[in-house]
Amino acid sequence: MEHIVIIGNGIAGITAARHIRKNSDKKITVVSAETDYFFSRTALMYVYMGHMKFEHTQPYEKWFWKKNRIDLVKGFVQTVDHQNKKIDLAGGTSITYDKLILATGSKPNKFGWPGQDLPGVQGLYSKQDLDQLETNAPDNKTCKRAVIVGGGLIGIEMAEMLASRKIPVTFLVRETSFWNPVLPSGESAMINEHILEHHIDLRLETNLVEILADENGRAKAVTTDKGDTIECTVVGLTAGVSPNVAFLKESGIELGRGVKVNRYLETNITDVYAIGDCAEQHEGIGQRRPIEAVWYTGRMMGETLAQTICGNKIEYKPGHWFNSAKFLDLEYQTYGWVFSEGGMKENEQHFHWRHDKEKVCITIAFDKETKQFLGINTFGIRMRHEIFDRWLTEERTINYVMEYLRDANFDPEFYAPYEVEIVTKFNSEFGTNISPKKKSWKRIFAIS
Ligand SMILES: Cc1cc2nc3c(=O)[nH]c(=O)nc-3n(C[C@H](O)[C@H](O)[C@H](O)COP(=O)(O)OP(=O)(O)OC[C@H]3O[C@@H](n4cnc5c(N)ncnc54)[C@H](O)[C@@H]3O)c2cc1C
Repeated sequence: MEHIVIIGNGIAGITAARHIRKNSDKKITVVSAETDYFFSRTALMYVYMGHMKFEHTQPYEKWFWKKNRIDLVKGFVQTVDHQNKKIDLAGGTSITYDKLILATGSKPNKFGWPGQDLPGVQGLYSKQDLDQLETNAPDNKTCKRAVIVGGGLIGIEMAEMLASRKIPVTFLVRETSFWNPVLPSGESAMINEHILEHHIDLRLETNLVEILADENGRAKAVTTDKGDTIECTVVGLTAGVSPNVAFLKESGIELGRGVKVNRYLETNITDVYAIGDCAEQHEGIGQRRPIEAVWYTGRMMGETLAQTICGNKIEYKPGHWFNSAKFLDLEYQTYGWVFSEGGMKENEQHFHWRHDKEKVCITIAFDKETKQFLGINTFGIRMRHEIFDRWLTEERTINYVMEYLRDANFDPEFYAPYEVEIVTKFNSEFGTNISPKKKSWKRIFAIS
């Protein structure tokens, strides 16, 4: 019986395992070093914040694995020996495979800051990081202040987590405005305000220089390139992640920043594949980045590769880009492409609307010439994924999107609707005379 070995029990590896089981009788072994069972990494913050227990982040009961004949091995893989088709684990065990799937995820970036390995300094990626944060920052008596370094999605999560225990947080962000390499300026400015309103000490255009130790060798302060020294007992390093592939350096498997794969998720070595955060496309698909460290793409790669492994060879086609996240209590969704001013394409134009009192805004990107709708970012309004996916596929115009915007709104009926205000602003800016159509369930559920 063919033996499929998967390294990594995150969303990518486990989705591949489940779908291989659905489609075949192959022997499946998942080896992973972090935890015994798969858990939802995106839910880690809610454990610290007391909204759920760690066990609740594990979507499958313990019996699931045995029943589905997915063997779980806890261990760290030190080497991959593709000539002999085996992997070697720390402790001396080896496992042979017929096909090997690398799904080893990411690790937090460290940039060689002095003091970056001191006790009290940590990232937020793994279950071990969560446990460490519980020890380092159980309350605001033990942790008088935390400094977070790096203004991305994980940084703001960590700030929210600590703030939920009333721990004062200083947030060092290198950019001139929060996440502005990704967000257009109006949105980024709104998030700056939102962070400050949550009493988080946001310091823009500020870089970490050094982490200082106390007499016991624990972090006691950071210094910044603005000349400040900030006393703290916890330093969160959240300056992005990179593929967790160091153990493959001598393996002969081609590496760039991640494991290089083609559109079939195959590496340069026969019968070795890579999926999820650790995989790097030789060239990005469409406007996508070659490495996409997001949950749903890991799941899609896992599903796609399972088909190929089970004899139905298919290309990885992720479709239109979408994503969602939370900035403190503000929900963010994005569909298609809306680039920040720094990354805007030549033909891209934006329409931005922001509510005058609430923290609610949208930005729509469209083609200057053809008016084709390119993408939308929304904050504080929940939108329907299928509708934007359809409009992107149908290459609708911005005017069409304005006219039918009510169809896309997913907020419950009692939420304040904003479409009239949005369309009024659009009409005045672009000299149009669009009136938003009534929401139609028939249109919403129409099969295109
Ligand atoms: C705090 C946080 C919040 C996030 N929130 C979001 C979100 O809201 N939305 C979103 O889309 N994405 C989010 N992400 C990103 C998302 O969680 C990742 O993209 C996704 O979990 C990656 O899945 P994966 O299966 O590729 O790898 P991982 O989940 O990293 O799993 C890989 C596993 O392989 C193990 N491993 C690695 N090397 C070895 C080895 N040599 N031997 C044995 N085991 C090994 C690792 O220990 C790990 O357990 C978040 C990430 C973090 C850290």
